[in-house]
Amino acid sequence: MRSLSERIGGIAPSATIEISDAAKRMKREGIDVISLSIGEPDFDTPQHIKDACCAALARGETHYAPSNGIPELLSAIAAKIAAENGFECKSSEVIATCGAKHAINLAMEAVLNPHDEVILIDPTWVSYEPCVQMAGAKVVHYRADQKTFQLHDDLQDRITGRTKMIVINSPSNPSGAVLERSSLKLVADLCEDYDIFAMSDEIYEKLVYGKEHVSLASLGDMRSRTITINGFSKAYAMTGWRLGYAVAPVEIIREMLTIQQHSVSHPTTFVMWGGVAALTGDQSPVAAMREEFDRRRIYITGELAAMNYRMAPADGAFYAFVKVDGDDTEIARRWLSKAHVAVTPGTAFYAPGWIRISYATALPLLEDAMRRIRRSEGKE
Ligand code: PMP
Repeated sequence: MRSLSERIGGIAPSATIEISDAAKRMKREGIDVISLSIGEPDFDTPQHIKDACCAALARGETHYAPSNGIPELLSAIAAKIAAENGFECKSSEVIATCGAKHAINLAMEAVLNPHDEVILIDPTWVSYEPCVQMAGAKVVHYRADQKTFQLHDDLQDRITGRTKMIVINSPSNPSGAVLERSSLKLVADLCEDYDIFAMSDEIYEKLVYGKEHVSLASLGDMRSRTITINGFSKAYAMTGWRLGYAVAPVEIIREMLTIQQHSVSHPTTFVMWGGVAALTGDQSPVAAMREEFDRRRIYITGELAAMNYRMAPADGAFYAFVKVDGDDTEIARRWLSKAHVAVTPGTAFYAPGWIRISYATALPLLEDAMRRIRRSEGKE
């Protein structure tokens, strides 16, 4: 066969796959594995959102829609941004996409050229680097403070004449850390001083516990150089709906739209009506899910601390990020084979020596998983 794309061939398959494949294999063999490696809420999508989607289907919303999204969704997003995120945007500065991941991908393709550099903050979510590589650009890694997971002045040392974008993700997957105003201000100042774009992935914004979520675009003039990424997967338990969005200066949205038009056209029409209901309808299910996550968070961090594990500040999202003694992949393999608990090694997130434990799992299962780890690690 002729050689295939060099650009894609250079992208490593996800490092999370080995353990999750092994866990699936064990489950198929009838072994009772508890999976704490999942990155999605275990709740059902709230009923009124499903009803709105079904109603849209029933009234025939089954045809092509405007490629940036239905106007009702774009204006609901603009209203949400003004009400909750501390900055204003017009509908023309919004694009609805097939999930937040797609918005990230479109934005990278729209902004980056070959040889441009993008700074990622480690530990970093698995898909940013492949998205940068698919856009032909290069990743430069910066390590967040290993205790506070905040950013310091040495972030400036990673900037070169080729730096085009800094990506932040707060609350963070995988660390659960929430960036404080001082860290955000540092990013804003560097972007303004060096004329750099920022991507702020705020998909976990609703899942913060006792901390304040601040949107980067709300600081100074940052809305003129920030692509804000968000979506419905985490806040509304809508991972399978594949609906997300980006808010950015109209020049960037226009380029993202060109790619969307020539690839997926737009997110599924009746799904977007579910998105309208999510943003404009009853928000109490979001609060109820957050409360349940908080209960689990308090439980799991208490258990891990009692086992003398050091953790990143578990202030947001639904992950406990745990420092382990030794090779994280070996330890994750051991927890799987001895304790039958699947977790994700930090190496997948450029954080060797750490393990990500998702608490998007019912409390009784979390209790069982903690019991198993305690027993197999001899920490009883
Ligand atoms: N950003 C982060 C940090 C995530 O954890 C995820 C989901 N794992 C996404 C983006 C993608 O979300 P979506 O399902 O909307 O594509």
